[in-house]
Amino acid sequence: MTAPATVTGLLGEIADVGRDAKRGGYSRHGFSPVESTLRDWFAEQAARRGLDVSTDRNGNQWAWWGRPGPDAVLTGSHLDSVPGGGAFDGPLGVASALAAVDRLRAGGFSPRRPLALVVFTEEEGGRFGVPCLGSRLMSGSLDADAARRLTDRDGVTLASAVAAAGLDPAHLGEDAEALAGVGCFVELHVEQGRLLDRLPGTPPVAVASSILAHGRWRFTVTGTGNHAGTTEVADRRDPMLPAAAAVLAARRALGGRAEARATVGRLEPTPGGTNVIASSVDFWLDARAPLGSDTRAVVEEITEAARAAAVEEGCALAVRQESFGDTVLFDAGLRDRLAAELGGVPVLPTGAGHDAGILAARVPTAMLFVRNPTGISHAPAEHAEPADCETGAQALATVLESLAGSPS
Ligand SMILES: [Zn+2]
Repeated sequence: MTAPATVTGLLGEIADVGRDAKRGGYSRHGFSPVESTLRDWFAEQAARRGLDVSTDRNGNQWAWWGRPGPDAVLTGSHLDSVPGGGAFDGPLGVASALAAVDRLRAGGFSPRRPLALVVFTEEEGGRFGVPCLGSRLMSGSLDADAARRLTDRDGVTLASAVAAAGLDPAHLGEDAEALAGVGCFVELHVEQGRLLDRLPGTPPVAVASSILAHGRWRFTVTGTGNHAGTTEVADRRDPMLPAAAAVLAARRALGGRAEARATVGRLEPTPGGTNVIASSVDFWLDARAPLGSDTRAVVEEITEAARAAAVEEGCALAVRQESFGDTVLFDAGLRDRLAAELGGVPVLPTGAGHDAGILAARVPTAMLFVRNPTGISHAPAEHAEPADCETGAQALATVLESLAGSPS
């Protein structure tokens, strides 16, 4: 038998796929040629390990060690990225799953429960705007008709992108059969903050406790397109002003709400000319807080500020929720079992959304985090130390061995 693959070695194999020369880092979006290359890589890695690979009706990839379900132990993550993302968010969980299989095989392990690796599609929502698209569709938390109508920045619908990727868009939607086979899910992920790094001894691995309630809202401010040089102030209906008011309100809304987050990271004026007063501005608000009600309160406060500024400027404002996920509390029994089996590793919350957060509503779910020394994520500088990555893969192997080696 060959030696188990290293996580760093596996990540190195896809290091050149989907690099973004303009933004830095990677732009790997769902149902794109880049994602297709990554899917082929995963399928080849799985086949090399004798795992049976299939793609479900929503485009998620599965690789089975033994017979598929029921009561399977599922692990994996995603291979897509945000625009200009890092190398670890997503791929670390997939590479660690492959490396964990190698480690288990090298130890002579043979699962008593079915064991599967999964790669969820379009987790970041980087192309179609809805995060955790593959897991939301599978679990039925996203309406299939609404999903088919989603469009990317070029106006391509999800339905046509899915068809171009060789899948039937008519089959998108809740996959009760796939879900029924899953006994539990464990997702390993790079930490997207610095909680581990700030703990005494900077432990390399943690178990997740919870995810903030979070959502995305699209704001459209409509004014009057006009000449930047000749239009007097009294005649201006500039949609950029309400947009700016919303950006400032997003920061103000966090005052006194230590654990809330509100971010405008994407703003698109139309037509987008230097010497043109925009006719409209679209921008997207990402808001998060420990409770869903707090998240909605933050959004309401920002919306009110934008609305008041729009009235003052003579503009129209439309706000549409693109996604919302309430607070996730991971399965307490699984959380405590994993933390104990890993020698009492820390148990930490996170503000980042994950497919595990979607599956948690349907099956017992847990997450492992690998230390991120700078806390930077969703950016090219995202990093995890090679030694920590191997420790993470071993931790995953340990919990998979325990879960799949004993009856549920
Ligand atoms: Zn991720």
